[in-house]
Amino acid sequence: MDTKLKVAVLGTGIMGAAMARNLLRAGHEVSVWNRDAAKTEPLAAEGARRAASPADAVEAAGLVLTMLYDAAAVQEVMRAAAPGLRPGTAWVQSTTVGIPDVPALAGLARELGLDLVEAPVSGTRAPAEAGQLLVLAAGRGDVRPRVAPVLDAIGARTIWTGQDPAEGSATRLKLVVNSWVIAASNAAGEVVALAEALGVDPQQFLGVIDGGGLDLPYLRTKMGLILDGELEPASFAVDTARKDAHLIVDAAAEKGLKLDGAEAYAARLDRVAEQGRGKQDMAAAYYAGR
Ligand code: NAP
Repeated sequence: MDTKLKVAVLGTGIMGAAMARNLLRAGHEVSVWNRDAAKTEPLAAEGARRAASPADAVEAAGLVLTMLYDAAAVQEVMRAAAPGLRPGTAWVQSTTVGIPDVPALAGLARELGLDLVEAPVSGTRAPAEAGQLLVLAAGRGDVRPRVAPVLDAIGARTIWTGQDPAEGSATRLKLVVNSWVIAASNAAGEVVALAEALGVDPQQFLGVIDGGGLDLPYLRTKMGLILDGELEPASFAVDTARKDAHLIVDAAAEKGLKLDGAEAYAARLDRVAEQGRGKQDMAAAYYAGR
């Protein structure tokens, strides 16, 4: 069976560009569209077709991959793509969205005659660039083999969470994972800020936890970005993390659960965004206490 597909990638930001690159490396025919067209330029040099509009990008595509900021952007872009879409096209929706957004996107897929696979991803810039994301996916059994070549190109592994993408099982798992990511990243910033305020060398702190149960590669990565002043280019930007932090707080509240930590992390990310750090890595939440 020929597993080379015509794939349209809508959204070539940090994650979408890396995914498009890995699809090209895997030999797929890739068309790309991004609101800021400059971001598709480097992909053209690697063999992607730069589309003038979402409708142009999806023309003749057998599979559409969306990797946009949020659900509103997905709705807007997919509606703009509608004139070029053929019924029966597979739609891999990887943007991180809220739980109530999932049935709405499933409704849009039905309206457009698309076979939706809900496919948020775990992993950031480096794993995305290496094609090593973890894909959390929900979709019908008969659609899975059609999207497998794409999921295999962008990820190291796919965890199937359910058959019906409208139920949001993949998004629920994704938000749980991100609650940990956002907590750990914020905690890294607070550890550095507290150490500095108390006159403790952050390296001394790392020496204490070295190799023990409290040690964590992710903590070291985020602390390193803060201490080395390498908050740009972001792996996971403040603006994106605050969007996700609010999705987590809202998802919990909907279930009658108050997440004080997540609320505080969302507020810290909002605060540094107001300081003009929205495009920096979310480790910039370190500056929220000032
Ligand atoms: P990003 O670099 O900021 O990319 C966001 C993309 O959305 C850009 O292509 C942007 O276009 C586009 N966009 C935003 N609003 C739009 C609108 N109204 N209409 C059309 N396009 C719009 O962010 P990212 O890090 O790649 O994240 C993309 C998605 O993946 C998010 O849902 C995020 O939560 C999720 N995610 C991110 C990570 C990570 O570590 N970075 C990990 C897992 C999942 P412009 O370039 O024109 O602004």
